[in-house]
Amino acid sequence: MSGFWERVTNLILVAAVTGLLLATLGTIATLALYVAFLLVLLIRHWHNLTTLDHWLRTEEGALPDSSGRWGDVFARLTRLMREQGQSHQHISSALERLRRATSAMPEGVVILDEMDRIEWCNPVAEKHLGINSSRDAGQHITHLVRQTQFAEYLAAQKYTEPMVIKQPRHQALTLSLQFVPYGDKQKLLLSRDVTRFERIQTMRRDFVANVSHELRTPLTVIGGFLETMLDETHSDPETRKWALALMTDQTRRMQSLVQDLLALSQLEDTENLVREEEVDVTEMLRNLYDEANSLSGGRHRISLDLDTRVKLLGSTNELRSAFSNLISNAIRYTPDGGSILLNWAIRDGQSVFSVQDSGIGIESEHISRLTERFYRVDRGRSRETGGTGLGLAIVKHVLTCHQAKLEIVSEPGKGSCFSAWFPGTRLSLPENE
Ligand code: ADP
Repeated sequence: MSGFWERVTNLILVAAVTGLLLATLGTIATLALYVAFLLVLLIRHWHNLTTLDHWLRTEEGALPDSSGRWGDVFARLTRLMREQGQSHQHISSALERLRRATSAMPEGVVILDEMDRIEWCNPVAEKHLGINSSRDAGQHITHLVRQTQFAEYLAAQKYTEPMVIKQPRHQALTLSLQFVPYGDKQKLLLSRDVTRFERIQTMRRDFVANVSHELRTPLTVIGGFLETMLDETHSDPETRKWALALMTDQTRRMQSLVQDLLALSQLEDTENLVREEEVDVTEMLRNLYDEANSLSGGRHRISLDLDTRVKLLGSTNELRSAFSNLISNAIRYTPDGGSILLNWAIRDGQSVFSVQDSGIGIESEHISRLTERFYRVDRGRSRETGGTGLGLAIVKHVLTCHQAKLEIVSEPGKGSCFSAWFPGTRLSLPENE
């Protein structure tokens, strides 16, 4: 029944009952009865209201059962509260999921309010910026990231490009920071660790500077001679011959440099290739031994000691280039009359190629840096003997591509031993061994 008809029916019912009561009990008694009835009704309403008020304030337990309209109101309220509880649970679990996803991000994320105060940050941002999500909540971001450059970036409000800074507390870390405005003046601060990228950039710059430096000297020498020769058209043949010999020497130097640079670049390009040719090291070393003798021109006592005939799985060309670099270094850094021993052996289940010389040796502080590109202990001696400063970098690279290790033992004035250790997995035993 609709509300209107219900009300009409009730009115008719009340009028009929009132008429009946007046007719049977008289006016006074009917009024007294109604007063009593209204009093009971008032007490019931007052009780239900108090109960509702108490429940709304404390939200303790469930609403009591009641009949009639109050029952309907209580039931509706209970349903509303249940629905609200469910949607609250929904929102908090969605928020929790969002926080967990943000925490798992490789980038640091800081949520800032409209006054640039920290609201929340993920663990990566804590590590990057040295802040603590719970301790530092409410702090202005510039109180924690104190670089002036950062405050200027924040104030300038041009956030299309990130800014790069050293980590506030650990300078070894380089960070890229970027603000992302959202909502009503709020911001996200994203931080990314770009230390490796910056290091590569620095290496690239150093490398270009080194190559230019290496090329500048021979080019200056050749250019100078050519100018002199152009001016002095009548210079004597002896001087010309001398100048041409020097120019040839410098040209060779540049050729070696370009060759080594190409070798390195090729090694970098093919870093992930599988190197599994069967390399006959014994045969290779016999050839290298002959070459060493002709390079030394009888100035050194060179011996070859082949303890094993084991073959290697790898790249013939690359291994040849690495071994030949080690041998030529031994010749170049061993004064005349010194001795050089080439050895191929199996030790502790690994195969080892070593070059032992009785040369000038190396101070211990240089040893860990020898395989860096263009690192030389004595620049003059390296150049005099035709070194490019890239030989050991090539050796290291080749060995890394073969999962092998370079060991350097040296004593100044006594000599050095460079050993290449190949893992057992790279050995290929001849059938009759
Ligand atoms: P370089 O072309 O200058 O020889 P390398 O990369 O081959 O460049 O070697 C780096 C440096 O290591 C050399 O400049 C030299 O100082 C040192 N070095 C390499 N081999 C030897 C050795 N057998 N004895 C002494 N010093 C060596």
